[in-house]
Amino acid sequence: MSLMGQMMNMPLMISSLLTHAARHNGDVEIVSKRVEGDMHHTTWSEVELRSRKLAQALARLGCQAGDRVGTLAWNGYRHLEIYYGSSGSELVCHTVNPRLFPQQIAWIINDAQDKVLFVDINLLPLVEKLITSLPKVEAVILMAGREHMPRETSIPKLLCYEDLIEAEDGQYSWPSFDENTAACICYTSGTTGNPKGAVYSHRSTVLHAFAAAIPEGMCLHATDTVLPVVPMFHVNAWGIPYVAALIGCKLVFPGHHLDGASLFNLFEQEQVTISAGVPTIWLGLLNHVKQNNLKFSSFRSTIIGGAACPPTMIRAFENDYNVEVIHAWGMTELSPIGTLGRLKAKHKDLPLVQKQKILEKQGKSVYGIDMRIVDAEGQVLPWDGKASGDLEVRGHWVISSYFNVDKSPLHDGWFPTGDVATIDSDGYMQITDRSKDVIKSGGEWISSIDLENVAMGHPAVHEAAVIAAHHPKWDERPLLVVVKKPDAQVTREELLAFYDGKIPKWQVPDDVVFVTEIPHTATGKIYKLGLREQFKDHTLPTS
Ligand code: ADP
Repeated sequence: MSLMGQMMNMPLMISSLLTHAARHNGDVEIVSKRVEGDMHHTTWSEVELRSRKLAQALARLGCQAGDRVGTLAWNGYRHLEIYYGSSGSELVCHTVNPRLFPQQIAWIINDAQDKVLFVDINLLPLVEKLITSLPKVEAVILMAGREHMPRETSIPKLLCYEDLIEAEDGQYSWPSFDENTAACICYTSGTTGNPKGAVYSHRSTVLHAFAAAIPEGMCLHATDTVLPVVPMFHVNAWGIPYVAALIGCKLVFPGHHLDGASLFNLFEQEQVTISAGVPTIWLGLLNHVKQNNLKFSSFRSTIIGGAACPPTMIRAFENDYNVEVIHAWGMTELSPIGTLGRLKAKHKDLPLVQKQKILEKQGKSVYGIDMRIVDAEGQVLPWDGKASGDLEVRGHWVISSYFNVDKSPLHDGWFPTGDVATIDSDGYMQITDRSKDVIKSGGEWISSIDLENVAMGHPAVHEAAVIAAHHPKWDERPLLVVVKKPDAQVTREELLAFYDGKIPKWQVPDDVVFVTEIPHTATGKIYKLGLREQFKDHTLPTS
């Protein structure tokens, strides 16, 4: 008969991250560039107290265990208080992406049945427009002081955040309950069909925070200052609000100004050491520092993920600015971290170029996530760095089902990610494509990411996207869509010649089109579906 362990069994509670931060690093700062326009300074202990008051206020508004609390907000300290005040009191924090189409926002809020909705002041007009299509929302709370309350509004019950906090005494103890209770809901972007809700538990969120914090993860220290550029409505800012509390480091929130100049100034002013975000955001920052001949004085490391990070971007950060890039892969269904690009001991003495090649991949599984690749018949493929197949994952923070959807998304106990990848013998995973973006040319698959990475290496290219264009013989052939750098000159022929020797000849794009802008999704990724639609009638010169 097995002998049971004789250790305390304390449920993993999200509130414990915050109480730990308040008790052990209570005086550490949380700085926010507010939507109101000014800078705001608070501390972990102040946030903990105000989160308790918020929990009291939510109860007073009639919120009960399991009720969903929606947010339409940028990165800021009040949003952090809502994260903890709601989840900590057994409510479910539901962050909504304000950049989605209004109809999608309404659909998501209704699907989650949000009972109350928190909103930043510059997003109030959006909610005023939508409110009649949100029958379940009983109250909207403006995340500001009384002086910002509008005189008139179409919202039947609009409350003031600071008034709610002020009315409470904070005499509240964080409850303890089943660690498998829902803590947050995040919706996938819904690029195909309606968005789907991923429901994270307290347990999955705390375990994810542990895994993200370790040196093989984000490697945060109490001495760091972390600025999540990734929005708090995009998979909980990749868990940074939780990791920062666990570590007890300083947090800086950028509000809604994410352009290169605003970010650079904030990085310098607050001496940011670590950041995280999607590649598009870094294009803006790198351009700004380059054009103005600037240098970072404190920035040491950034996590780039959400879309493939072009090798040229890694090089620019590392060689020109001495900022380490950690390439990461994840998704909403994983809350989100799956793999991170980190070297092994045996790589220590490799020449720089070989180390760089390894770090360009999406990386190794963090402990807690298991992965495999399978072929079209579901047969498991080898880890040889060559065989490419559908990437499947399982682990402590991988969804087992979607909210309000009966059909299981799992295949044989694994979650199919929709990504196509290779895994090498050292366990480094490399995404070749999203299965819907891969270019199927006469039975062979061409990775759009590979072709984009080459184009991004050309000095005249600001941004590049490769999509499948219809071809009468090959079915699909790659079409390169390019935004040139300001004042740069480059021709179609020069760009095509740039592929020579870098990839097999048959993979070279059939054509190039120059555009002034490439469309992006609400999470800042290249909107391939939109591009394919835009160029669906494009006639390739080879056809
Ligand atoms: P959406 O893109 O639909 O908003 P997610 O944010 O959950 O939803 O995106 C997850 C997807 O983003 C992954 O399945 C993968 O296709 C892509 N992705 C994330 N990180 C990377 C990366 N480092 N390289 C390539 N693709 C990535």
